[in-house]
Amino acid sequence: MTKPNGVILWEGPSALDGAPIVVIATGIAAKSGNEKTGDMVQTWIMRQDVAPHHALKTGQDASVCGDCMHRPANGGSCYVKVFQAPLSVWNAYQRGVYPRILPGEARDLFAGRMVRLGSYGDPAAAPYDLWAAIVGRAKGWTGYTHQWRTCDHRFANLLMASADSEAEGVTARAFGWRTFRIRTADEPVAPKAEFVCPASAEAGYRTDCASCRACGGTMAKAKASPVIVAHGATARRFALYRAGQPVTA
Ligand code: SF4
Repeated sequence: MTKPNGVILWEGPSALDGAPIVVIATGIAAKSGNEKTGDMVQTWIMRQDVAPHHALKTGQDASVCGDCMHRPANGGSCYVKVFQAPLSVWNAYQRGVYPRILPGEARDLFAGRMVRLGSYGDPAAAPYDLWAAIVGRAKGWTGYTHQWRTCDHRFANLLMASADSEAEGVTARAFGWRTFRIRTADEPVAPKAEFVCPASAEAGYRTDCASCRACGGTMAKAKASPVIVAHGATARRFALYRAGQPVTA
């Protein structure tokens, strides 16, 4: 059977606000070319009924991103360009391009592959059991959540707690999470507890996520937690946010 390049993994109410959301996987047949992640199946968590670029403007992205401080509605600096890949996936979903499959079928489809949990959207908006099933035979996965204070704690098995300060990193790790922390260039890396993401500019882009596989929650082989310097267009906004100053476009 020819593998579809995209599938609907789940449709249902958001665990964050109850609104209808959809989880779509793409890059199943064709290899993805993202330089940082390497070849990975991508998953997209979006409102079923609102295009992602509109949801970003109206604040309805809270259904898939919760109260993440990187949301533009929170004056944040999210790096995902929702009018590009997320919008094109959402448009294809509206056209009925993607077949619906069961989590068990996804587990077989993703066998031996690397899977990115939440290329856009927070995986904790959808059920834990869905994600646990689809990565069951995967080679590995990466995933992050800003909902680590409130979500089903089993997500710590699969996801990294996104930490936006040293204090958040310490707190999340105390609650049993591994963390992925964004920092400014002058903030230190905690000895033993943290290491510099090897796909970062400051590490010289030594590898990609598909090879590293450190960001797979407590089930990953790595035990310490990666950190990365806020980079690109987000760096200035992140620095302003951290300094407690107004964040402008
Ligand atoms: S630590 Fe490894 S898996 Fe995590 S973002 Fe960096 S390269 Fe990717």
